[in-house]
Amino acid sequence: MAKNKKNTPEQNCSFCGESIESTGCFKGENENTICFDCIEKGHQIISQETNSLKKTKGIDMNTVQKPSEIKSFLDEYVIGQDDAKRYLSVAVYNHYKRLNHISLGNKDGVEIDKSNIVLIGDTGTGKTLLAKTIAKLLKVPFTITDATALTQAGYVGEDVEGILSRLLQAADYNLEEAERGIVFIDEIDKIARKGDNPSITRDVSGEGVQQALLKMLEGAVINVPPEGGRKHPDQKFVQVNTRNILFICGGAFNGIDKKISQRLNRSTIGFAGSQTRADITDKNILKYVEPQDLKSFGLIPELIGRLPVLTYMNPLCKDALLKILTEPKNSIIKQYIELFKYDNIELSFKKDALEYMVDKAINYNLGARGLRTICESIMIDAMFDIQNIKDKLVIDAKYVQKHLTLNV
Ligand code: ADP
Repeated sequence: MAKNKKNTPEQNCSFCGESIESTGCFKGENENTICFDCIEKGHQIISQETNSLKKTKGIDMNTVQKPSEIKSFLDEYVIGQDDAKRYLSVAVYNHYKRLNHISLGNKDGVEIDKSNIVLIGDTGTGKTLLAKTIAKLLKVPFTITDATALTQAGYVGEDVEGILSRLLQAADYNLEEAERGIVFIDEIDKIARKGDNPSITRDVSGEGVQQALLKMLEGAVINVPPEGGRKHPDQKFVQVNTRNILFICGGAFNGIDKKISQRLNRSTIGFAGSQTRADITDKNILKYVEPQDLKSFGLIPELIGRLPVLTYMNPLCKDALLKILTEPKNSIIKQYIELFKYDNIELSFKKDALEYMVDKAINYNLGARGLRTICESIMIDAMFDIQNIKDKLVIDAKYVQKHLTLNV
């Protein structure tokens, strides 16, 4: 893009003087022009300034949504799970306050701890969805990692630092963004120590990994290989500070219900128990989970201490599954209706069709995750022969029965 001396002033950018012919421009009211390159540079300068202002001034808490507002946002995407949503909303709100507190230099000498979270509940009940939705709300980088793939440094598998490599990638290698991100560690229960006693033999995939995670969860500067993979001596590292990264851990913790009921039964024998047996009639015993149950399950106390917010998910009943099909902002049914609109076809589902699908998901023991597979199987014929459909397609139970070819 050479400066074009022959151009009239209006044909050059008023800021850099370059010709606007090749780049495009905006024209001001008084015939001043600014080329797209200068707009881009200006944008960069403004975002750098705003970021450094944010750093020194902290976050304006008036602009941060209150916990009840955060929960309302979650309600748009996730059905039920009210307790988990309340805990998450408060944890996220406190996370903001903490970021603010740090940027204002920990006034009064009080340090606010991180509110990392553990979500326990069956697979397919919405743990990942909750974490993802929170990241969407906060507009921060988000990554999901599977704890089963992690191993202690030096063993075959992924080093825990790999989690941060992925977060960096999710943030397009913007370190500052990554350092405010959210990491969802799935299947945290799979790295539980086998048996309640600390083992003297090496536990590569269990306790060793828990130990390796401690520093990261608490907040430390970690050397991260930006491209992921194993560490090697010649590698360049990016130093990632995890102080403001929110970690949400999820797991099914199969069998923890027995540990909870054993504890509750024990405590009702003595006088210490505040819970009586009669109180514990709830179907979902996970509601009573306490940190000591995670310890009996095999998480080490140091790890439990770094995950101070503990909450649970409810199993999804038929009613919840029906709502999942239709109510969330991007529910499965809304997605199909949208797809058919592109061919000018009005797609609708009768209630008996939805109920049939939900019953199948329950029979097949597929839970919410199976709903998508079931829908896909029902809709595949119509989508393949979409050109033969005239204006409207109504799906009822009969249609579902005829087209559901799922063999599970
Ligand atoms: P988990 O992490 O608990 O195993 P996911 O969050 O991955 O479960 O859920 C799998 C899918 O099931 C989600 O993508 C979503 O479509 C659906 N789903 C599960 N639970 C809910 C819920 N409570 N509300 C809305 N959709 C849900």
